Amino acid sequence: MADRYADIVLPLARPAYTFAVPDRMDLAEGQAVVVQFGARRYYTGIVWRIHDRRPDVGHVKPILRISSDVPLLTAPQRRLWEWIAAYYLCTPGEVMRFALPQLVKPTGLSLEELIAGTFRPRTEPYVSLDPGIVDEEAFDRTMAGLIRRAPRQHAALLEIAAAGGERLSDEAVPRRCLEADAPTLAALRKKGLIRIAEHERSTERRADNRFRLPELTPAQQRTLQRIVGDFDTHPTVLLQGVTGSGKTEIYIHLIARTLADGGDALMLVPEIALTSQLIARLERIFGSRVTAYHSKLPIRRRTESFLRLARSEGGELVIGARSAIFLPLKRLRLVIVDEEHEPGYKQSDSQPRYQARDAAVMMAALTGGHTLLGSATPSLESYANACSGKYGYARLDERYADARLPRILVSDTLRAVKRGERQTHFNRDLTERMAAALRRGEQILLFQNRRGFAPYVECPACGWSARCPHCNVTLTYHKREGRLQCHYCGHTAPLPEYCPDCGGADLRPAGFGTEKVEEELAKLFPEARIDRLDRDTATSESAYNAIIARFESGRTDILVGTQMIAKGFDFERVSLVGILNADNLLLNPDFRAAERAFQLMTQVAGRAGRRDAAGEVVIQTSEPDHPLLRQVIDYDYDAMARTQLAERAAFGYPPYARLTETTLRGRDRQMLYEAAAALAAELRERFGRRIMGPVAPPVDRIRETYIVRLLLKVEPGASAARARAILCDVVRRHLADPRFKSITASYNVDPQ
Ligand code: ADP
Ligand code: ZN
Ligand code: ZN
Repeated sequence: MADRYADIVLPLARPAYTFAVPDRMDLAEGQAVVVQFGARRYYTGIVWRIHDRRPDVGHVKPILRISSDVPLLTAPQRRLWEWIAAYYLCTPGEVMRFALPQLVKPTGLSLEELIAGTFRPRTEPYVSLDPGIVDEEAFDRTMAGLIRRAPRQHAALLEIAAAGGERLSDEAVPRRCLEADAPTLAALRKKGLIRIAEHERSTERRADNRFRLPELTPAQQRTLQRIVGDFDTHPTVLLQGVTGSGKTEIYIHLIARTLADGGDALMLVPEIALTSQLIARLERIFGSRVTAYHSKLPIRRRTESFLRLARSEGGELVIGARSAIFLPLKRLRLVIVDEEHEPGYKQSDSQPRYQARDAAVMMAALTGGHTLLGSATPSLESYANACSGKYGYARLDERYADARLPRILVSDTLRAVKRGERQTHFNRDLTERMAAALRRGEQILLFQNRRGFAPYVECPACGWSARCPHCNVTLTYHKREGRLQCHYCGHTAPLPEYCPDCGGADLRPAGFGTEKVEEELAKLFPEARIDRLDRDTATSESAYNAIIARFESGRTDILVGTQMIAKGFDFERVSLVGILNADNLLLNPDFRAAERAFQLMTQVAGRAGRRDAAGEVVIQTSEPDHPLLRQVIDYDYDAMARTQLAERAAFGYPPYARLTETTLRGRDRQMLYEAAAALAAELRERFGRRIMGPVAPPVDRIRETYIVRLLLKVEPGASAARARAILCDVVRRHLADPRFKSITASYNVDPQ
């Protein structure tokens, strides 16, 4: 037999390595194996490719053992990892590090250590007849001997035999399915008539396809037909449906069709929209087929789900955050990306810096399945793809049950101040409406996109402000803890009594966050029950669920919160929504700021008046004439998209150019800037005006490390892949200079 070799992907920022396949090892691509790599480290790796080409090195180490009896990755998933690695400038090993739950890929300094760290799935006892009595004659003889002297054992044996099927066999049946009690089974085992062994819980084939589906309205039905029709010619379809139009109902119908055909469906939602409300809604329809998967679940749960799905033969519904795209669903036919415009689908802080929505689109191409992107306010990238015909496009402009869209009112903060109509953070336009809503027993949502009490603490005498010693950013004051906190590195310090610079005693918290809003509200509406939802109060899943549950059951009148209140829920008694300060949304210099502001304000507004009562929205701003506000008030997504796309085209931004951001980090500021300037000059020789920077990001020092960025902009038509290859090559050679040894580079393709 010819020698066999296998390329193995290890969870490292390195390429695949080739190992020898031992003679009698029965190996399949996608399986996990254990190999020794480096002097004395043992890793779990994934078999990428089996071939017969001996690598050009002296000794080829053998694969030590197989650690998964079934493949952990399907072939399309291996292609997806390769695509992610190539597109987002990392290695399949880095994808592996992120994509597989920790316990599926143990490493160790010795083989024993690695094996000890290997996840063992939960098992349960199974009972089977001893092979010695699996024979009509022997069985009858045994039964006859028991019937008088041990009637319970007789009954138990009969039960086991019956549970094993029509014909006598030693098939194992789960203990929990038997009525026989433990002493009886123990006695039978002692007599050698049965065997009891631990087995993994089996993945039963999911056969029941009778789902109780919501009945669709005629408009929803037409939209569903449109989507299904477009799927014939387009792997990806964009569904643009206003909030409350019933996008979820349409998803449910598509999922049901997929499951009934024996396929798997995956529904991606932004992490913070992954509420127990939504999971419960899906479980009521799809029962035990639903698997939730996200980073807040305990590692064990995630590992169990991963391994169970690797064995499943289809019919699964996974609802998860962006990491769920990596689950080993063998018959993946449908991926739904809900709120597809959400920036949270892009992983920005560590490799792989992938965009899960784009990976889902890729996945559809690789599996021959379908991807549905859903949103009330699509990303301009997806919208442009729908307009150009690359994606199919379905639109649903009617809200369910004729619920009207809330009326949006812009309230001019500067004018309110001049007229004496503003109290702390609230214009009279808002407070009057709040009072009325409270009188009517309705609920109110208030949005403020900063948490904490105050984002700055300043000394009015000398201008000093409290800053983080490790990062270039002001410290946020958190009043309840009485401390200043850095939102970048977590550094905290007590609020000083006197100004450290001039000794002034009048330090003032400036600006306002959710905590301050909550405090001011209590003064304005002492009777109202007020609650807050942000990262400081929703510290765990249960704390989060408790806040939502209080609001849902009407025990809270006013809920103040950050972005977290904008998503995922459906509250019927909310009649008023306030956006306390739209200025920082409108005046942000980022090229996506207008798109984001529109999406966020529309989404927050959509929380009001979801049933019979038409709701109201009050937006407080000192820029009441900003053209974007007009588009928000009119719910005119198309006008927003036209304006913004025209600007993007004029200035060469996505979707009319592809961006790759290179970030350099180092502790020595001067050296870093020197390296960045020299690198930019070198890159300009290759790319000319396509290179922008170096520029310092708004927060240019985090945890004592300085940060500087370069941007590569590639226009359509030019090969972005080739440009990125050149970029990486130049950066690698440049940083090889020993002077720049301590500087690291990282890439972010399609940054958001
Ligand atoms: P979207 O996801 O588009 O914002 P949802 O799917 O959450 O909208 O629907 C909004 C509300 O309307 C939900 O409470 C939902 O239960 C209800 N609804 C929508 N369509 C139907 C339907 N066909 N039958 C019953 N209830 C529906
Ligand atoms: Zn001072
Ligand atoms: Zn800090």
